Amino acid sequence: MMKLSEITKVYGTGTLEVPVLHGIDLMIEDGEFVAIMGPSGSGKSTLMNIIGFLDRPTSGMFELNGDEVGLVKEKKLAKLRNEHVGFVFQQFFLLPRLNALKNVESPLIYAGVSKRERNERAREMLEKVGLVDRMKHLPSQLSGGQKQRVAIARALVNHPSIILADEPTGALDSETSKQIMELLVKLNEEGRTVIIVTHEEEVAAYTKRVITLRDGKITDDRRRMS
Ligand code: ATP
Ligand code: MG
Repeated sequence: MMKLSEITKVYGTGTLEVPVLHGIDLMIEDGEFVAIMGPSGSGKSTLMNIIGFLDRPTSGMFELNGDEVGLVKEKKLAKLRNEHVGFVFQQFFLLPRLNALKNVESPLIYAGVSKRERNERAREMLEKVGLVDRMKHLPSQLSGGQKQRVAIARALVNHPSIILADEPTGALDSETSKQIMELLVKLNEEGRTVIIVTHEEEVAAYTKRVITLRDGKITDDRRRMS
């Protein structure tokens, strides 16, 4: 469980100070499927980066499973990130010179996993996203949806309990978006917490809870009846 209390974020200092989040109170249980919506500049990515341990809040409390994790040091932050979170981004961020398999393996190289185990785990994840037949292809040889599936396989390879996806369908057409959302639904059904940022109602419709941010505050938080 994740609990944020009175979280604020201010970027920069002095005359360059930009206050972005203004007291976020939010609780997300394990296994939830959440969409974060809101206008451009409202702080969605900033909030995702804090939840995903890519950045720290300026003030407030952030608890993960009862432990305070908001104001930890960089090394601990990296550890939390590697242990708990898989990221998916709009622009995929695949390594262009590595084939699909090597891309999926890459987080395990940093984690010091043996070559054989890396290969096994990466194949397993590519199977999960339905792409083993393309594992020797470079990102430039894959379609947008296939690239995003490779990115999702890479996000899964460390067995994170939380998947964070910032506009995962933003660069995809609607049919491909649907496939990616169906994949995220499946991952959520397997028990992972999935949190996505999206501008699109059709994409948010796949989730079970929609949070709206406006000027760095939560202005709406609804659970879908199902
Ligand atoms: P979009 O829908 O356009 O992606 P967003 O809701 O994700 O928007 P954020 O990226 O969280 O918005 O940005 C919120 C505000 O914080 C914006 O005004 C942005 O300019 C500012 N901001 C983001 N990162 C920084 C930074 N590193 N330094 C200063 N200001 C920043
Ligand atoms: Mg953003």
